[in-house]
Amino acid sequence: MTASSSGPLSPPMEPGAIIGILGGGQLGRMTALAAARLGYPCHIYTDEQDSPASQVAAKTIVAAYTDEAALAAFAKDVAVVTFEFENIPEITAATLARHVVVRPGPRCLAIAQDRLREKDFLNGIGAPTAPYRRVTSVQDLTHALRDLGRPAVLKTARLGYDGKGQVMIDGNMKPAAAWKAMGAAEGVLEGFVDFEREISVIVARAPDGTWAAFDPVENRHVHHVLDTTIAPAAIPRDLADKAIGTARHIAEQLDLVGLLAVEMFVTREGGILINELAPRPHNSGHWTMDACVTSQFEQFVRAICGLPLGSPARHADAVMKNLLGDEVLRWREILAEPAAKLHLYGKKEPRPGRKMGHVTRLLPRKDQQG
Ligand code: AMP
Repeated sequence: MTASSSGPLSPPMEPGAIIGILGGGQLGRMTALAAARLGYPCHIYTDEQDSPASQVAAKTIVAAYTDEAALAAFAKDVAVVTFEFENIPEITAATLARHVVVRPGPRCLAIAQDRLREKDFLNGIGAPTAPYRRVTSVQDLTHALRDLGRPAVLKTARLGYDGKGQVMIDGNMKPAAAWKAMGAAEGVLEGFVDFEREISVIVARAPDGTWAAFDPVENRHVHHVLDTTIAPAAIPRDLADKAIGTARHIAEQLDLVGLLAVEMFVTREGGILINELAPRPHNSGHWTMDACVTSQFEQFVRAICGLPLGSPARHADAVMKNLLGDEVLRWREILAEPAAKLHLYGKKEPRPGRKMGHVTRLLPRKDQQG
């Protein structure tokens, strides 16, 4: 048994205890809905008015993430704090951790919110990534490009997601132009991976060290944003087992309590390279809401409350499609499809590229047909 870094082993939280969630987006919303089913009200802490999560939560505090008095007041009423995005200031997690158990702990956040720290950590525990270099100037970038070759991908070390702060450097682009386009003081240059496909694994880990993983899925991106998830990924069993084993190893080395999504590239040689970690529910796990015995959100709640983990077994195959921007206007057609499950996030304006909802289309399990 492994004790959690976020505090000594504590008894399971009784239904009725309050879960605090930092962040008011759709991941917080779907977590609050799953928590409500198990009898746990949620309090949301966000800097946004009328957020998707606040629409379904028992209470919302709207304040800056660095407002120590507001954070202390939020912590006073809740039994555990978690977060639905990792880019919260370190001071926020540290302040909260003085008052209440934070799961996953501040160390997981610190690693996952900085690409450089994340890559150093991963390589340090034998989980390989694409080759990379830290760059803090055009000169560094010029040297790093010489080392890694072209094409390469320049990313901001911090605050990057969905391809934001990312520059693809092809054969012609001048280092100075790439540096300017990235627009940050610290970056990571990554060798370009000519991958066969992208997959992800979501693993849950409880305070007593027990764990459970969902089947690996394939993710297709459009303009760097997740568009479609195919469950399960069409990969050989031994590769699926390796992907799950790698995700489990990372969760254990992070001493994570909660959920960890591990995005991976499958190389043309059949190997795995880790692209990114997210210590929270993940867009590529939305299909589990309709196709698994336990959804990623319920599993997340079980893990952070110290409850037994649920079965991650898949009872159907599934294809999850994000509804970005105006795609949400097709809600009526989608509802008319017999095997489609629609989820809308309560966002008012369908701005281009904004995640408005998703639809999961269920299919019979291929491996049980015939
Ligand atoms: P990220 O924000 O790091 O998850 O990147 C978003 C997407 O950009 C990934 O899902 C890939 O499709 C692509 N990408 C990122 N890094 C690389 C890389 N080193 N080589 C090839 N494609 C990449």
